[in-house]
Amino acid sequence: MAQLSDDCFAFGGKLLSVEEAQALIATRIPALPGSEGVPLRAALGRVLAEDLRAPVALPPFFNSAVDGYAFRHEDLAAAGETRLPVAARLQAGQRAAPVAPGTAVRIFTGAPMPPGADTVMMQEDAREEGGAVLLAAGLARGANCRPAGEDVALGEVALEEGRRLTAPDLGLAAALGMAALPVRPLLRVGVFSTGDELAEPGAALGPAKTYDSNRFTLMALLASLPVAVDDLGILPDDAVATAAALAGAAATHDLLLTSGGVSTGEADHVKAAIEGGGRLVFWRLAIKPGRPAAMGLIAGTPVVGLPGNPVAAVVTFLHLARPLILRLAGAAAETLPRFRAEADFAYRKKAGRREYVRVSLLPGAALPVARKYPREGAGLLTSLTQSDAFAELPEEVTQVAPGDSVTVLPFRAVF
Ligand code: AMP
Ligand code: MG
Repeated sequence: MAQLSDDCFAFGGKLLSVEEAQALIATRIPALPGSEGVPLRAALGRVLAEDLRAPVALPPFFNSAVDGYAFRHEDLAAAGETRLPVAARLQAGQRAAPVAPGTAVRIFTGAPMPPGADTVMMQEDAREEGGAVLLAAGLARGANCRPAGEDVALGEVALEEGRRLTAPDLGLAAALGMAALPVRPLLRVGVFSTGDELAEPGAALGPAKTYDSNRFTLMALLASLPVAVDDLGILPDDAVATAAALAGAAATHDLLLTSGGVSTGEADHVKAAIEGGGRLVFWRLAIKPGRPAAMGLIAGTPVVGLPGNPVAAVVTFLHLARPLILRLAGAAAETLPRFRAEADFAYRKKAGRREYVRVSLLPGAALPVARKYPREGAGLLTSLTQSDAFAELPEEVTQVAPGDSVTVLPFRAVF
């Protein structure tokens, strides 16, 4: 596995702002090296490793955009109807012969323009009669046809290195004749839960146990990222076992994600395991929910310790783990989509930390209305399942009043 040097972070601070943590990631983390060719069918969501320069123009040749009649524009009378004999018929996929002056060619969408012809009249605007077509005046030269390269010119960069390939990207690559694309290697991510109280879903729930949910949320959040996920199970609250498991997994993964056990309780061993096995880069983010969140390196492999409370794990995944993954994967930096909404709630918060309040989005008069989920606990999974978005309350804000405009981050764009 690729290793980062411990010295790529020279940071000694304590409580980091979200921005500072993201800046550390953006400036200190290099992308993992390498690339591989994958067929288009397997390339969705992968990170393009090189600029794709168009090996052919798109469209590859001058062609008709409609079903109609192709002709030389100079043959069209400035006023009144023009009558041109229809000399040929040309369907998509057929090779075109030149159009003789004073004649028209019956043409269909996607067929090559006959050399000499520069304009097409839609069939709805023309009338065929006794082997000739009657064309109305007033059509501009070049109407209803598509020049070669109008979409992508030959040699132009059609897709940039670092893009996470989307459905239209793959269509564009196919249109340019590519059967495979060079992409960055998938990041191997190992996911652990931690906690003596955790039970595996499907197993019996013993006394004082609760089912592990974070691992399933996190693995699902990872599914849309360019990673290969290993489910590494549940770690007990034990210092030696935690250190050994993290050290072992670090050797075979590009990134480790844990949840829980990262606070300062006696049963919290993740932070100590990172400190003991490598280097703690930071611990504690100025974010709520989610304050205890650690990032470090074990044997050169980044480790992100997310908090145990399920909502805190999601919030810190989005703001810490996700940018880190994109960076390691060589993907261009992405900001989460945000828009403005009108709060219908009152809320107080401490200055100096960013808060994520779960809201439903309802239609409003000017802006959509953000209705707060009635309860606030960082452990309430239903605050996520029954909401649509996070309202993002910035560090400097200390209160929100009904009617205030707030920034919201819709779940659909990120989950
Ligand atoms: P911790 O940070 O380990 O103290 O955990 C904080 C809270 O989150 C505790 O109530 C834990 O039981 C809960 N928790 C930790 N990990 C998980 C998990 N994987 N799934 C569900 N709840 C968890
Ligand atoms: Mg715990």
